[in-house]
Amino acid sequence: MTNQRTFRIAVLPGDGIGSEVMAACLRVLDALSPSLDGIELATETLKAGAELYRRSGEAFPEAAFERARQADAILLGAMGLPDVRGPDGREMAPQLDLRERLQLFAGVRPIRTLPGLALPLADPRASRLDLVLVRESTEGLFAGRAGGRIEGDETARDTLTITRSASERLFDFAFELARRRKAASRPGRVTCVDKANVLRSFGFFRGIFDERARLFPDIQAEHCYVDAMALNLVRQPWSYDVIVTENMFGDILSDLGAGLMGGMGMAPSADIGESHAVFQPCHGSAPDIAGQGKANPTAMLLSAAMMLEWLGDKHDVAACGRTGRRLTAAVTAAFAEGSLRPFELGGQDGTAEITEAVLRALEQTP
Ligand code: ATP
Repeated sequence: MTNQRTFRIAVLPGDGIGSEVMAACLRVLDALSPSLDGIELATETLKAGAELYRRSGEAFPEAAFERARQADAILLGAMGLPDVRGPDGREMAPQLDLRERLQLFAGVRPIRTLPGLALPLADPRASRLDLVLVRESTEGLFAGRAGGRIEGDETARDTLTITRSASERLFDFAFELARRRKAASRPGRVTCVDKANVLRSFGFFRGIFDERARLFPDIQAEHCYVDAMALNLVRQPWSYDVIVTENMFGDILSDLGAGLMGGMGMAPSADIGESHAVFQPCHGSAPDIAGQGKANPTAMLLSAAMMLEWLGDKHDVAACGRTGRRLTAAVTAAFAEGSLRPFELGGQDGTAEITEAVLRALEQTP
């Protein structure tokens, strides 16, 4: 059956390599349009980011934010540049404003390794990783970012905030994700990462996790301190299913997860709220490689696949979910061949080569 539906996608390429990986992504989405069975993805490119701030004094104009808010989904490249800072000395981070203003509380960071790559861990189980980190994305230590103070050049303070409402919805999201994954033969386990042995805020966080766990008796629930998790993610990452944690811990552990996948350019993400969602690679604008054609677009492409699957689930449109899975399969097939070597893994393949390989794989992926 042919669908007659248009999804509006706000496209925010942003800064540095953001616009390079986004251009690759739009090419691939274009090639996917025949599999969408009549569904149209109407993209609208919006300007925001550090470069815009440098030129205009505004990082995310309200009109652009409003267009993004009205879209069915938001695709984001990367934002921020280390040398562009506001009057308070902090980097521009419109992507964090988006998460907070649209209440995108669940930062979904899949840690799934692709075949055919020389990965940092030698154990063969590390080449078949499939776990998901869920990072709270509206509060935690990042909630203090606008209000931190330095007192008389002697003391600096930032505040970590944990609320019951944000924690409950975060944990419910993690347990529901584990339940969906369990249906696909994964273990059905959620690990809450905290520092409850030192900070009261994390004792509170852990208590709410235990309360919510009781509502999901079919899913195993366990705890791990963040320092132990950093160790375990290097020693035995295959032993985890869904990991859920506070914003700052999630920020750090998701980069560790990207390392397990081979680099920042391999790690996709989605920031999901009740009604909005932003899909973007885990990496930043990487000014050190911008403009050289070296950026790996894989994370951006896998993020777009997550967007298609999310749209499919949310609006009950099977063609979208199917197309998202097809894109993931094509990216996987492109690497499985074994000859693709992104620059960040010590190879010679940049944005163009990887995009072409995925487009070729798409032709062979029904
Ligand atoms: P942020 O400060 O927002 O985390 P960043 O750009 O400073 O962003 P990361 O995104 O964490 O840093 O990336 C660290 C390094 O990894 C980059 O400087 C770059 O060398 C490399 N890198 C990141 N993304 C990619 C990519 N898509 N392809 C290739 N290399 C990348």
